[in-house]
Amino acid sequence: MARKRPEGNCHICGEFGPLSFEHIPPKKAFNNRPVISMDFNQALELGPNEPTKGKGNVQQKGMGTYTLCERCNNLTGHWYGNRFVDWCYQGMNILHRTNGSPTLFYMNYMFPLAIIKQILVMFFSVNGSGFRNANQELVDFVLNRDAKYLPPKYRVFVYYNIEGKSRKIGPVVLWRSGQMHTVSEISYPPFGYVLALDSEPPDSQLFEISHFARFGYNEFAVMELRLPVLPTHLMFPGDYRNENEIREQYARSKRIAQGISDND
Ligand SMILES: [Zn+2]
Repeated sequence: MARKRPEGNCHICGEFGPLSFEHIPPKKAFNNRPVISMDFNQALELGPNEPTKGKGNVQQKGMGTYTLCERCNNLTGHWYGNRFVDWCYQGMNILHRTNGSPTLFYMNYMFPLAIIKQILVMFFSVNGSGFRNANQELVDFVLNRDAKYLPPKYRVFVYYNIEGKSRKIGPVVLWRSGQMHTVSEISYPPFGYVLALDSEPPDSQLFEISHFARFGYNEFAVMELRLPVLPTHLMFPGDYRNENEIREQYARSKRIAQGISDND
């Protein structure tokens, strides 16, 4: 039975109307299986890699939401979708060949502009409908297939991601070593992406790809990229701790909350 499509303001063009289901990342980029989404507290209570059966919201179609109008969804999918999918297949292939720990430089064959634009389309979806109002330059950038050069206040970072939970987090302000970072993050194997707004990246291991925006739409590039492999166990942007680090710090903070110091 066909359900009525949700209506709302498109996260990119802002027009009010029926919204279409947007896979984040695109369906062909390994996003065609059921996924479970849950909030930070649920994920923390659950602990890393415990069974998620019966918890969170299950999305049978893969990860995504109703955020874009049909026009924006189709246009951007048509322009950027396949080129982005190729990039994901290469990433997955490198991870398979190296058993999840690439230690060398690997060649990537790609259309950089389409890839960074698809990444930004996903960030529009994940961020609320108000994000477009504050970021009109970014709207123009993704709705014009051939537009080049990202305004310098937007910086995009990437990493390999194969361990943990998928992130889909709108702009959050983080304090790290006395610095404020406004970041949004999406992770879904084989990659994770961070969008930093007017700020430094939350972690120095992240690999910057903002320069992908300097290529023409039909300009093909071969690049050597050396990306870090980072886990995403908690629904908290910029957090790449492994399971042991999380368990230890969680246990320590519980002891402190109970008034027992580490020296007891
Ligand atoms: Zn639209």
